[in-house]
Parts: sequence; structure tokens; C-alpha cells
Amino acid sequence: MSDGYDGILLGAGHNALVLQAYLGKAGLKTLCLERGAVPGGGLATVEDPRHPGFLHNTHSFFHRAVTHMPWYRDLALEQRGARYLEPELNVALVQRDGNVLEWWTDFEKTAASFERFSAGDARSLRRWRNDFVPVLEKIIGPESRTPPLPPAERRARLEQSREGRLLLETSALSPEEFVLREFEDPVIQGGLLFFNGLREVDLRCKGFGHHIPILLAAAGKAQMCVGGSAALARALAAAVSESGGEIRCGVEPRRIVVEHGRAIGVETAAGEFIRARQFVASGLNPQQTFLELMRAEDLPGNWRAKAERFAYNLLAPLFALNLNLRERPVYAAERAFPELGRALMVILGLEGYAQFPEIVAHHEQGTIPPTVMWGATPTVFDASQAPPGMHTAFMWEKLPYRLNGDPRNWDREKDSHARQMLELWTQYAPNLEGAVIDWFARSALDTERDLPNMREGDLLVGAFTHGQVGFERPFPGAGRYRGPLRGLYLCGSCCHPGGNITGLPGYNCAQVLHADLGLAAPS
Ligand SMILES: Cc1cc2nc3c(=O)[nH]c(=O)nc-3n(C[C@H](O)[C@H](O)[C@H](O)COP(=O)(O)OP(=O)(O)OC[C@H]3O[C@@H](n4cnc5c(N)ncnc54)[C@H](O)[C@@H]3O)c2cc1C
Repeated sequence: MSDGYDGILLGAGHNALVLQAYLGKAGLKTLCLERGAVPGGGLATVEDPRHPGFLHNTHSFFHRAVTHMPWYRDLALEQRGARYLEPELNVALVQRDGNVLEWWTDFEKTAASFERFSAGDARSLRRWRNDFVPVLEKIIGPESRTPPLPPAERRARLEQSREGRLLLETSALSPEEFVLREFEDPVIQGGLLFFNGLREVDLRCKGFGHHIPILLAAAGKAQMCVGGSAALARALAAAVSESGGEIRCGVEPRRIVVEHGRAIGVETAAGEFIRARQFVASGLNPQQTFLELMRAEDLPGNWRAKAERFAYNLLAPLFALNLNLRERPVYAAERAFPELGRALMVILGLEGYAQFPEIVAHHEQGTIPPTVMWGATPTVFDASQAPPGMHTAFMWEKLPYRLNGDPRNWDREKDSHARQMLELWTQYAPNLEGAVIDWFARSALDTERDLPNMREGDLLVGAFTHGQVGFERPFPGAGRYRGPLRGLYLCGSCCHPGGNITGLPGYNCAQVLHADLGLAAPS
């Protein structure tokens, strides 16, 4: 029996680490329990055991605007070893005919690329970007960095400003409706919907049309962490330990212990009881937190039912092909677009809007659609991720979790699908024929085995649908990072504003916990 801590956190994903580091700065003694061997969750970089020196980012790689996040500055992560690059040619959509649609950090260059496809679409891009920059700065940005407001209160506030009314009007549409109404070129339509897909919102879902102009207006682009994504996890873990926090890896929690309607600690699978004097904060999903780790009698009945119904994204699961290379992929399209050799994200197989309904239908049926894939060659920008002169590269594809009705089918099918991806990739980059030293594939089932909070391989830990966003994420009643008992909190991606490497669920939970514990606001 331990003397205990002020607070215990469950799961050392980046959101929990952000929260823990702030609590340490505020003088609290905390412990984080992590089932895996290292902290970081989706911030993972692993060395290929068969080929020393080849590093692979098996979960997240493209970290959107991380260096703009408040916690990145507050926790002094650069002084603790994190360093980010934001390549200028941020995204390139390569067509079969060798044409390339480009997104640059320099907006004028992006507009010029759109112009080559459609002058009308370039005008639309400018218009929506100009209109949405203030929406983003005044509303969307601040909303993502604060605990959400109840929907009626939020709407009433939005109706009072021009930007708020524009946001309400565009969000009434689905992303698909917005794109088809505002853009005419099928490649641009496809590219924009693809980006929307990276946020995992169902493109048919009304209420999410504003996601597209947000993408057009966002100043922060995709960034990559030097040394691999795990370097950010190491910097966060240093921020935790230097403020007195502890992280214990290889420990499975068995139960959140409740006494007199209050969370008072955690019992581990090994039978140890660890007391939490003030709180338990879970970075896990609602089924883990409320169904697996809590006794039914410790929860209000409707709370269990809501946790059971918490749903996952149909279109989120990823399949990954990772390559060890003698040389980087050289795309045939580089003859006309030499800058492509230094593109961060490359998209292949996407020829236009018409493929989207087909991809969605395959996900619904559990079958494999014609391949659309995207990826990067990290070593073009960061030589430290491979042995001298060598490279690593990867491609991801959205593929259904339940392949032909059963996720276990992936164990049989994944290598054969990976070979097909490599064949397609080689059609765009013919030098891959002789450049591949070795490769390995990972399915959505592998993701779930590694990180069980990503149930059904949903890397955003919960669908973005009505009843699961904003004040209602993860479900109505739980949207302010507080559980139904005193001393119980949620801090993972199942909370507003959701998954991806944003750290904002952890940051927002820190605001709530600091207020509840009577501490000064986190800084
Ligand atoms: C293949 C793939 C590619 C991705 N690419 C990107 C990308 O490019 N950009 C991006 O922004 N995001 C990407 N993501 C998503 C991103 O990784 C997640 O959204 C993010 O990691 C979620 O952060 P989190 O802190 O909420 O939880 P996680 O990072 O999932 O961390 C949760 C932690 O809890 C631990 N855990 C789980 N169950 C238990 C338990 N029972 N007891 C104790 N500990 C437990 C896990 O081991 C893990 O360490 C990707 C994810 C995957 C899988």
C-alpha cells in the first residue's frame, strides 16, 4: 500500500502527459500508469529490429501546427529536446498523368497551383480563406483551447457576430455539399475532401461543412518532429519528471476505486492499491474508463449505457506500409515538378471526387477499395531516421477495420495488400523497383493491439458525429472533462476537441482540474 499521490492518470498518451506536466508545475504530486513499455502512445518511433538504424513512426507522423499550441510553449518543450520542421511544399497530390496539385506554406504558391487546375477554384480558395481567417482566429481557435460551451449558449453567442453567423451557415452543410457548391474541378474537389477525411469527419454529415474553409484558412500546416515523433514524447516525459511527476510503464490498471461517491485511487492488475488524494484522470476511452475499470454500482445507470453507445469512426482505421530504402522514392512527376522531391506529404491514387462514395461504400461493406494512399519520406528532411545515406518512407491507406466482417482477417491478408501498395507506389516512383531493402505492414488491428484505447483501430478515439462533438464529447453529460463522481476526470482524445496530436483535450482538462482544485490557471 503506497502513501499515495495527489492524482493518478491512466495511460501516458500525449494528452495525459500534457495534463500531468501542468499539474506538476502547479506543485501537485502525480503518477501516470501506462500499460505499454514507453510513454507517448501515438507518439511512437520504433527501430526496425531486423535493420538497426532504420526508424519508423508507427503511429502519428504529420503533426499539424504543434509548435503553435499553448502547451508546447508553456512546457518549454524545445528546451527539452523537441524540434519541428514545416516543409514548404507541405502536401502534393500526384496525378496519374504526372500533374501535381500543391499546398504550400506560402498561400500565394498554393493559389497558383489551384489556378493551373481552375481559375474559378483559385478565386473560391482566396474568398473562403479571407472570410475564414477571422472565424478561425476569433472563434474556432479559442474554442478548441477551452472547455466547450453548452450548444444553445454557443449558438446564441455565435449569432451575435458576423463571423459567428458565417460559421453557423457553413456548418449547416456537409463537407461534401460545401466542396461541390464552392469548387468545380474534380481533382481539387477530391483533394479537399481527402483533407477533410484526414480529420475523419464523415463527408456526408451535415453540421460539419465548416471543416473545409477551416482547412483553407489555417495558418499552421503539417509539421514533423526531428528524430521521430517519439522525440516529442520524450520532451513531454521530461517536462513531467522535471516537475516531480512519475510515469510507471508496464502497469495495467484493474479498477478505479470509489469510496463514498468519490474516486480515491487505482488498483493495478498486480493487486497494488495506489491512493489518489484528489483525483483520477483517465486518458482512455469511455468503454475502458466506465465499463472495464469501474464497477456498475459505482456509476449512475444511464452513464454506463451512454459509454456503451460511444461510437468509433468508420473511416479512420489506417493500414501502413513502411519501407527501408537504399535511396528515396524518385517520382516520375519530378521531371515536370522538381520540387516534388521535397514534398512532405505525397498523395497517390486520388484522381478526383468520384472515388469518395466508392471508398465509403467499401468501408461500410468491409472490403478493400481501389487504393488511395498518402505518406512521406521522413529522411529527406531528417537523416537521423536511417543509417547514413539510407532512407525510410511510408504510405498509409484508409481501410476497413472489419475486413470481410472480421478484423482478424488482416493477419492473413496484410502482406499481400502491402505488396499491392508497393506495386502501385512503384508505378509513380519507378526507382523503388531496386531501392527497397525491406518492408513491413501494419493493420488497424495491430493499432488496436498496441493502443487498446483506439478501439476498432479508430486513431481519433471516437467518431465526430452529432452527440459526440463539442460539449457532447464523448457523450452528453460528460463533455466538460468531468466524470459523474467527485475526483474523476477524462483527459484523452475521446474529449473535445478530439484525436490527433493536438494535446488540447489534455490542455483543456488541465483548465478544469486547476479550477476545481483551486489552483491558478495553467501557464
Ligand atoms: C497509424 C496511425 C497514424 C496516425 N497519424 C497521425 C498523424 O499523422 N497526425 C496526428 O495528429 N495524429 C495521427 N494519429 C492519431 C494520434 O496518434 C492519436 O489521435 C493520438 O495519439 C491520441 O492521443 P491520446 O493522448 O488521446 O492517446 P494515445 O496516444 O492513444 O495514448 C493512450 C495511451 O494509453 C495507453 N493505454 C491504453 N489502454 C490502457 C490501459 N488499459 N491501461 C493503461 N494504459 C493504457 C496506451 O498504451 C497509450 O500510451 C495516428 C494514429 C495512428 C494509429
